[in-house]
Amino acid sequence: MSFKLEIVTPDRTVISEEVDFLRVRGTEGELGILPGHAPLFAVLEIDILQFRRDAKEEVVALMGGFMEVGPDQVSIVSDGAERAVEIDVLRARAAKERAEAQLAKVKDVGAEVALQRALIRLQAAQGSRAI
Ligand code: ATP
Repeated sequence: MSFKLEIVTPDRTVISEEVDFLRVRGTEGELGILPGHAPLFAVLEIDILQFRRDAKEEVVALMGGFMEVGPDQVSIVSDGAERAVEIDVLRARAAKERAEAQLAKVKDVGAEVALQRALIRLQAAQGSRAI
């Protein structure tokens, strides 16, 4: 048993494939989705998303968004998402350092969000956290 996972950003379709299990973090907590899950709509946080197909596990850096769980498909619309293998680690490190330098000067919400995006990209690139 599997279901279709689709992750779409303003630029592209990042993921469109059959998966067995999905884990994301919603504003109200972590959500694990298996085939046959009840219909659901959730607002998602900036966090890593994990999915599994057979024994293969993958990590995606997700820049928040909206998720709709339907009968055979989970659709996520996000501002940005990158598969772990697509992440440019040097760019994410540079973004982290820029955001930290800005936050050292002034508490700025934009810099806080930029820091969170960079940290999630670095975490996803490391493929940390067992499913
Ligand atoms: P930066 O400051 O490095 O541009 P950002 O968080 O401001 O980072 P975004 O505006 O979230 O970048 O993303 C712009 C585009 O660049 C998106 O398509 C996003 O997927 C991509 N992107 C951003 N950072 C990385 C990265 N480290 N590796 C790969 N793609 C990235």
